[in-house]
Amino acid sequence: MIRTIKHAIVLLILIVQSSCYVLLIQNPRKTLFSQLQQKYSVNVETTWTEEQAKMLLNTYESIYQQSSDITQTIPASIWKISKEANQNDIMIETVENIKHITISSDVFSNGESLTNNTQDEFLYNKQLFRAVAQVITENWTKIDAVKLILKDGTDRYAIELVLKEMYGLSLVLTDTPETEKIRQKLRKYIGEVKISQFTNQELMMLMSIYEKFPIGMHKIPKLKYLLCSQKAPYAGSAWIVADCVEYTKRTFKIKNQKEFQRVILHEKAHFLWEYALNGKLRKEWSEFGGWRKDRNNRFGWTKTKERKEFVTDYAYAKNPNEDWAESVAYYIIYPNKLRLSSNVKYEFIDQVMLLYSDGSIPFKRLQDLNTR
Ligand SMILES: [Zn+2]
Repeated sequence: MIRTIKHAIVLLILIVQSSCYVLLIQNPRKTLFSQLQQKYSVNVETTWTEEQAKMLLNTYESIYQQSSDITQTIPASIWKISKEANQNDIMIETVENIKHITISSDVFSNGESLTNNTQDEFLYNKQLFRAVAQVITENWTKIDAVKLILKDGTDRYAIELVLKEMYGLSLVLTDTPETEKIRQKLRKYIGEVKISQFTNQELMMLMSIYEKFPIGMHKIPKLKYLLCSQKAPYAGSAWIVADCVEYTKRTFKIKNQKEFQRVILHEKAHFLWEYALNGKLRKEWSEFGGWRKDRNNRFGWTKTKERKEFVTDYAYAKNPNEDWAESVAYYIIYPNKLRLSSNVKYEFIDQVMLLYSDGSIPFKRLQDLNTR
């Protein structure tokens, strides 16, 4: 009898132990850490929280799931968080084939955040995206055909590949037959353009902001080119012309990060106005600002709503399209400010964002906010 009890106890201990073991494996923190390890050869230090590891994993996945191009093995990397580094600092050092990445803890503080909105699902700090993209693009230089390392240490070809692959964007280069065609098109609208070139750093900055849009908006078929110009005959710093966004060098001199983001988001939002919304939805949006066509107004529109229902002076100044572009930028950067100035605009944009949050559906114009 005692023997049987002993056996039972041993068996019980074994069962308890093995269930502990199972529990250990299912520990979400460990699962995250091992997923990072197995899928991307990423090791994070033990100080990383579950939430931080999740953000890193999401970032890797957001890049890899769209890129069929990355098939080679990934060298191991060790990720460290430092309180001392400032927000723009990403340090990548390679020691004996292992990449050591140090990022600032600021990367994880998301500023203004809201709960339970569509935005939270796709919006996480894009500084991290920049770090991962940088690690990956450096990685791509391992492919022989892609070995073209520029002076600043990042692979231009790889950056252009990511730009094309993820956002469907090509750069307007100087002196190609294609450039000449684009130049002719631009001449019609804005006269002669002095084409300059983006630096790698500038392109990384742009990508990290494009990434703030839901995945289904990353590629807009009619948005094909990025052009960098020395200067343009306008007071602002970025415009859209035909199928191209033009940034002047002035854009990248904007010191305030939020202001810089606003400019980039604003321009892309114009393409959404043009290609994501149909006439009915544009009309619905115009109602929120009380916009009416007016031939006597120099911008062709007047509005009945007060300034306080618009996010910026510029949103209030011209037409429903500018109101939309400013509001979309605010939805991403300052959601609470948009909500305070106009909750209906906030809800409208939130619905549009939700409809594009699925990356598996190719971009197409919305017919309605309730169905796709
Ligand atoms: Zn605009």
